[in-house]
Amino acid sequence: MDIVVCIKWVPNTTSVNIDQKTGTLIRSGVPSVINPHDLHALEIALTLKDRFGGSVTAITMAPPSAKLGLEHAIGMGCDRAILLTDMVYAGADTLATSYTLAKTISKLKFDLILVGQETVDSSTAHIGAQVASWLHIPYLYYVVDVNYLGDGKIWAKRLLEDAYEEYELTLPALLAAAMHSTHPRRVKLSYKLRCKSEQIIEVWSNKTLGLEANCVGLKGSPTIVRKTSFVPEVPRKKIVCKPKDVEQAAEWLIKRLIEERLLKI
Ligand SMILES: Cc1cc2nc3c(=O)[nH]c(=O)nc-3n(C[C@H](O)[C@H](O)[C@H](O)COP(=O)(O)OP(=O)(O)OC[C@H]3O[C@@H](n4cnc5c(N)ncnc54)[C@H](O)[C@@H]3O)c2cc1C
Repeated sequence: MDIVVCIKWVPNTTSVNIDQKTGTLIRSGVPSVINPHDLHALEIALTLKDRFGGSVTAITMAPPSAKLGLEHAIGMGCDRAILLTDMVYAGADTLATSYTLAKTISKLKFDLILVGQETVDSSTAHIGAQVASWLHIPYLYYVVDVNYLGDGKIWAKRLLEDAYEEYELTLPALLAAAMHSTHPRRVKLSYKLRCKSEQIIEVWSNKTLGLEANCVGLKGSPTIVRKTSFVPEVPRKKIVCKPKDVEQAAEWLIKRLIEERLLKI
């Protein structure tokens, strides 16, 4: 099975701040990482390759620094990686992003596409459904397990709030891996060294894709952010209880909650 995995290069949200005046992310000096949920998409793809053969290609639309993320994907075992990078792709909303990704994938040989459930920096969860729609293929979200049934069909299990659902899909199809669905494998140094010795990471610009400038980046994005509002910071009292045992802690907590009028007895 030939699988394409879409990964997003995102600011490490544990160290990112927002400019309160402009409402934009302060990206300078903030290290980026592969969107953590995309590691599950990579793991599912690589497990399928281990069991049924084929290839895994990682793609990302991002600035040149995302090469590091693709090196990580190669280190996990991907065969090929494509970095889509061009100034005309900057400022893309989900429509323009999914269009560019879908156009890229349509140039590749693929049976299955895997994406993460959502990103940690924009979290719309639009991209998977939109890419599948551009390509006119079926898609399924919240996937936790996949098996190849032969004859161009896959079985996939997804986790909803309180139930599992099982599906059979005809390939080509797109799956969005559920958060925490796998234990992503570690990077192997021997795989990662391939990035140094071979031209394994391909850089595609809009010259390669030849997309209309009006359909990509800011020009191809009908979404406009009019205003960014901030949730007011709640002042914390920062009171720490240092009990001798659980009973004392419970008594202390109940007393505090009554004092704060959060509990009535
Ligand atoms: C008006 C507007 C302007 C914007 N301008 C910018 C900007 O200048 N710079 C900027 O960084 N963002 C910008 N964004 C955010 C940008 O639209 C999103 O980052 C992008 O479309 C992906 O959406 P998401 O992160 O919500 O992905 P989701 O739909 O939550 O992601 C689901 C999955 O899709 C895949 N995926 C998502 N994005 C990519 C990608 N780029 N490459 C490969 N796979 C991917 C991953 O597997 C991911 O887990 C802008 C958004 C709007 C609305």
